[in-house]
Amino acid sequence: MPKRKKLTHSTTQLAGPHSVSTLRKKNLIPSPERVNGKRGGAPENPDVSSKPSGLTNLELKRYQRQMLLEGWDVKGQEMLKKSCVFIAGAGGLGSPVAIYLAAAGVGRLRICDYDTLEVSNLNRQILHTHTRIGKYKALSAKITLKKINPHVDVEAFFEKIDEKSVSKLVGDATLIVDCMDNFPTRYILNDFAVRKGLVLVHGSIWGLEGRLTTIRFPQTPCFACIFPDSPPSGVFPVAGVTPGVIGCLQATEVIKYLVGIGENLYNKLLVYNGKNMSFQQLKVRPDPECPVCSKLR
Ligand SMILES: [Zn+2]
Repeated sequence: MPKRKKLTHSTTQLAGPHSVSTLRKKNLIPSPERVNGKRGGAPENPDVSSKPSGLTNLELKRYQRQMLLEGWDVKGQEMLKKSCVFIAGAGGLGSPVAIYLAAAGVGRLRICDYDTLEVSNLNRQILHTHTRIGKYKALSAKITLKKINPHVDVEAFFEKIDEKSVSKLVGDATLIVDCMDNFPTRYILNDFAVRKGLVLVHGSIWGLEGRLTTIRFPQTPCFACIFPDSPPSGVFPVAGVTPGVIGCLQATEVIKYLVGIGENLYNKLLVYNGKNMSFQQLKVRPDPECPVCSKLR
């Protein structure tokens, strides 16, 4: 049997228009020895050597690859650093959302979940570990996120989101990510987002299927326009990969909105089906009789 040829190249050795050497020649990325005019490697005291941009040398290095995206640059990274996002739920959806927002450098994350970790959560809630069973998920989330990116400020809340607490919990966040597993709380978040003019990135899952939309009132319908009725509550099936897919898409929506690149999923509902790997976009419109938003339009 012929021996398989061993693959020896890494992504940094790939040729072509996006190779590291080509980008370096075009001065799109600095050489490894020189980052912002200084020699590379972790600076002796990275958090002291802050640049006028507000990003330290180490942060500039950490986010180097994403800042290469058209329209992102240092300014986009600064926008992320200045932003505060409220993540409602530290479960299946909240895990990838929080991990990717922390890794991308969103300056402040407020993550809320009043549940404690159970062993049956661990097939999908990748923020948490087996050793943390019984602990508050919000606190477990904070530990994981600070390990991923110490430059990000994480505030953990283990309170129930209701009409009374929602304002205090969302605080000064400008964007809410709906990572809940129940509709009553989603309606509370939607009411609040509509009243305060905050963007709400909705994600939901069931089995191998998921839904995603970005709500920005009054430019789009509100959550109650799209989902006027609450489905029956209870334990439902879920493959861990499904919130992985939808959570990553939610984080993508958040990052695009904060950096100001691409197009958000306004007035559209993305429907994902993992059984046949289909993604469909359905148009959604405001409901003229919506009890939440119709009188505010
Ligand atoms: Zn509505």
